[in-house]
Amino acid sequence: MKKWRYTLMLAAVFFLASCQSAQQTNTVSEIIVIEGATVIDGVSDTPIEDAIIVIVGDTIQSIGKRGSLEPPPGARTINAAGKTILPGMFHLHGHVAMSEGFDRRMENYTRERIQRDANSYLYYGITHSISLGLDQEPMLGFLADQRAGRAGGARLYSAGLGFAAKDGWQPAGVEEINRPTTPEEARALVRKELEKHPDVLKIWVDDRLGELPKITPELYGAIIDEAHKNNVKVLAHMFYLEDAKELMRRGVDALAHSVRDKEVDEEFLALAKEHGVTQVATLVGHYGNLTYPQDTSFLDDPGVPLMVPADALETLRSKEYQNQQAQSPTRERSRRQYETALKNTAAIAAAGIPIAIGTDSSGASRVQGLWEHREMEHLVKAGLTPMQAIQAATANGAKLLGVDDKYGTLEPGKVADFVVLNANPLSDITNSLQIDAVWMDGKPVNRAALGHYGSGAN
Ligand SMILES: [Zn+2]
Repeated sequence: MKKWRYTLMLAAVFFLASCQSAQQTNTVSEIIVIEGATVIDGVSDTPIEDAIIVIVGDTIQSIGKRGSLEPPPGARTINAAGKTILPGMFHLHGHVAMSEGFDRRMENYTRERIQRDANSYLYYGITHSISLGLDQEPMLGFLADQRAGRAGGARLYSAGLGFAAKDGWQPAGVEEINRPTTPEEARALVRKELEKHPDVLKIWVDDRLGELPKITPELYGAIIDEAHKNNVKVLAHMFYLEDAKELMRRGVDALAHSVRDKEVDEEFLALAKEHGVTQVATLVGHYGNLTYPQDTSFLDDPGVPLMVPADALETLRSKEYQNQQAQSPTRERSRRQYETALKNTAAIAAAGIPIAIGTDSSGASRVQGLWEHREMEHLVKAGLTPMQAIQAATANGAKLLGVDDKYGTLEPGKVADFVVLNANPLSDITNSLQIDAVWMDGKPVNRAALGHYGSGAN
């Protein structure tokens, strides 16, 4: 009861404070009560059935089982019986604006397409998304504008331009990533990159199965160390078990792919624990073209015609395209790598190492926003429970990004960002796509306005 009275008192104080400021600004913080839903708060392993959420302005003021707290006077009540509510989702590994349908190149990288992609993520309830390693202007201007409230969509984060070996890994479409040759140069390039205020940094540690030079531990060690001196985290693209281990010894904060050459061993698990590393499994990215031709139900999602240009969608739906993907000469290799990634994800989850969501989403064949839901499906396929997959997509991402004081869970004092579902994903994780509404900053998002292509009616 005491807690209940305290909550009411807080509500009154908050309400009065908003009325006072309203005299100056002419806006009153509305109080909204959402009643009757099943709430997965991102923290607890048990959902709150028949919940009540009290939202004041953009903030969750209180949350609990209905009857455990009294709705404050003057609140607008929304009946959400039969719905399930999740925190807004976090995505740590995608690439914005590079693609128009299947066409991926630097010329596509415009402000309009950055906004398009931020909107696509938000349509699907991804409220936070990192663009990992290919960003320059106009992204920096977009981020400044978004953070000043002048641009909408999912809250985007950027790793600026990433780091790789000289003559080494070449991300499709981008020439000018950082390619240091000495530790001193690596540190200087990190400092230069940090002048653009990226949220995290990205390193590619990969030789494309022996074809290319790979950045050395000495160089990426210097990059990680210099970033950490400036309180910036580092995520790494990697492929091999031995590289993942060395990255962890050198202090990397997150692995942005799964280890795909071997099964992870005790030493890997011990290093991940010792260094507090987050595993961004990116399973749906590794699954890639194995999707075709048997696993294409995502094409029927009502958001797809809004987010994929009509000609590209026609191609994705065509038997020719699907058969072509199914007959790819690298298919068996991809399958082995994906199956290794699945096993590794299971072992990492069982060891209690945090897993977060990444997808490599970008372009027509990896629909931004939708792919993050598919990643949860793959995590469940790996052996995580639906609850663990949801925590990976919410609280774990917020922690890695360092914004868990405000986002990632549904708790008093957190920003009211959440996804309202028509079906419960704990009974079937694919129910996470049964989206009824997306809320951001305590307000429902106009999802219909977020589509970029077509009407969705066809
Ligand atoms: Zn990537």
